[in-house]
Amino acid sequence: MSSETKSKPKKTKTGTPPSETRSFQAEVKQLLNLMIHSLYSNKEIFLRELISNASDACDKLRFASLTDNSLLEDDEALSIWISIDSEKRAIIVRDNGIGMDYDEVVRDIGTIARSGTRAFIEKMETENSSGDADFIGQFGVGFYSCFLVGKQVTLLTRKAGTPPKSGIMWSSDGTGEYTISPIDRPSRGTEIIINLKEEDFEYAEEYRIRNIIEKYSDHVSIPILMPKEPDPATEQAEEEKPEPKQDKGKEWETVNKGSALWTRPKSEISEEEYNSFYSSLTYDSAPPALTIHNRVEGKTDYISLFFVPSNAPFDLWDREQRHGIKLYVRRIFISDDAKTLMPNYLRFVRGLVDCADLPLNVSREFLQQNRDIGKIRQASVKRVLGELKKLSESDQESYNKFWKEFGKSLKEGVVEDHENRQSIAELARFATTKSEGESQAVSLDQYVDRMPMSQKHIYYLTAESLSAASSSPHLEIFEKNGIEVLLLSEPIDEWFVSHVTEFRDKALKSIARGDLDLEDLKKKEDGKKTEKEQTAEDAVVQKIREALDDNVKDVRLSNRLVDSPSCLIADDMDMGGNMERLLKAMGQNAPTAKPILEINPDHALVKRIDPESKDFEDWARLLFDQALLAEGGTLDHPGDFVKRVNRLLAS
Ligand code: ADP
Repeated sequence: MSSETKSKPKKTKTGTPPSETRSFQAEVKQLLNLMIHSLYSNKEIFLRELISNASDACDKLRFASLTDNSLLEDDEALSIWISIDSEKRAIIVRDNGIGMDYDEVVRDIGTIARSGTRAFIEKMETENSSGDADFIGQFGVGFYSCFLVGKQVTLLTRKAGTPPKSGIMWSSDGTGEYTISPIDRPSRGTEIIINLKEEDFEYAEEYRIRNIIEKYSDHVSIPILMPKEPDPATEQAEEEKPEPKQDKGKEWETVNKGSALWTRPKSEISEEEYNSFYSSLTYDSAPPALTIHNRVEGKTDYISLFFVPSNAPFDLWDREQRHGIKLYVRRIFISDDAKTLMPNYLRFVRGLVDCADLPLNVSREFLQQNRDIGKIRQASVKRVLGELKKLSESDQESYNKFWKEFGKSLKEGVVEDHENRQSIAELARFATTKSEGESQAVSLDQYVDRMPMSQKHIYYLTAESLSAASSSPHLEIFEKNGIEVLLLSEPIDEWFVSHVTEFRDKALKSIARGDLDLEDLKKKEDGKKTEKEQTAEDAVVQKIREALDDNVKDVRLSNRLVDSPSCLIADDMDMGGNMERLLKAMGQNAPTAKPILEINPDHALVKRIDPESKDFEDWARLLFDQALLAEGGTLDHPGDFVKRVNRLLAS
């Protein structure tokens, strides 16, 4: 609910709701405050928001009228009219779209239940961001942005298909209360009148409004009309007329191009035009990283225009985010349901598909089951992946930037999209023991190309962070042998390696799991041990096994450690510590498998351990706890650990 009622809304005897004053919900006030402070340098976006609402309202009506033609009430040319009352310093935005009834006005006008607005509030509160206008511009802040420039805002509306007496007037000065009352309203749709604040009188100029429309809303497909600019000759003639010009008699002209850009041939569209279309679609002022425009002729004819943004939007990880690919049928907007045309892992792709052969009155269920739509989706995914592949080959720097922004999301594809798993694996980039710093820039192809002849597997290590991975004891033998290891530190990587189990006939193999097949590594040059030494080592292992019986599946001598005394290994069929911790953090019930403790018999610490000494158990536990900490695990009893270390240090 967007408001609290001061007096309970009772219907009157005639069934019309009463006039009443209501107060805003606390969050609305908070939103208004934040908006006024953070958007003061970018106030003009209020017009973009109103035009976008008006255009949505027209789309909704057009769609509804496909099944109920009477809704159009002989007023079929859906449009948006914008005019200025220069005497009252007011801007008037009117549409003949679907309109709203009483309950919808109360419920929808300025609700802050939408994810974009919530994200806006959170962002503003955490960052105290005052001026990054481009960034803020990405949030659709909605109807309430009128109060950036308006001292009083009045909304008049009537829902399509309802009688004239069911019009509604809503009015507020944006400080805490609004009034709502029934009115007679012959024309369908919504009209918003903004009385400007004195400091914002500049918006009462036609040229200013025309500029803003051109900047933000040129591509809106509904015609935006403004009063025709008077021709100087007729103006002079009119000045001689005694009576003032009447609004009704105004001549209107369309001020937006509104052309369906995508229907024009590629060769005739300039990069600027594509970029400005992209920006009007997404409110993103940075040009897209990729523009993919195709006309497909065949069994189903359609046009697709997709963009891959340069930067990840703020809501990439918001599950409720709702930007889907827009679906048009012969230039009529049908739906932008998020999952119809792109799978979730490609949710960052923006754009549209315009299809020639679908019926116009399609339902959501129809779209989900329709075979043609399925085929378009399949081809679109392939096209986007193909273009990304081309980019990765032609411009590595841009590709690496893309990967940094969207790699995590794309990697989800190996789980979600079985059919394209191979192409997605080819697109993936990783940090490795041979790459620089944090960057993920090594492809599996590159890795395989530079494997020594004798190496059979693609080795990887998963850990909670890159620094935990790169300092892991598991790497020691690989570093000694100069063998590259993929360092995987994002949660999705665990899923990636469980779905991409081989690449170019080489199995992906965790270096923290199972036995190391060291055929492809030079065995550790540990020299020949005497039988006596061997027996002593075996005895230590056996005693540690007994001491740690509750915590480990097994204890064994390691052939992978060089500088560290111990490490933990997952058994071949077990899940591994990192995956287990991830699942637990996600609140899932992960089966707890005991790890295997490997110890390095050549390490000074291990050599010093005397199986007969009284603090043997402390030593054994220390080897285990150290190994757990080194792989990013947490101790069940940290206090005991500290006491144990202190005891050992003191002795
Ligand atoms: P958003 O448009 O992002 O949902 P707004 O605050 O701008 O958020 O608008 C809230 C809701 O009010 C809209 O979703 C729509 O249902 C309704 N609304 C706003 N403007 C209009 C309009 N011109 N015609 C019909 N409904 C509208």
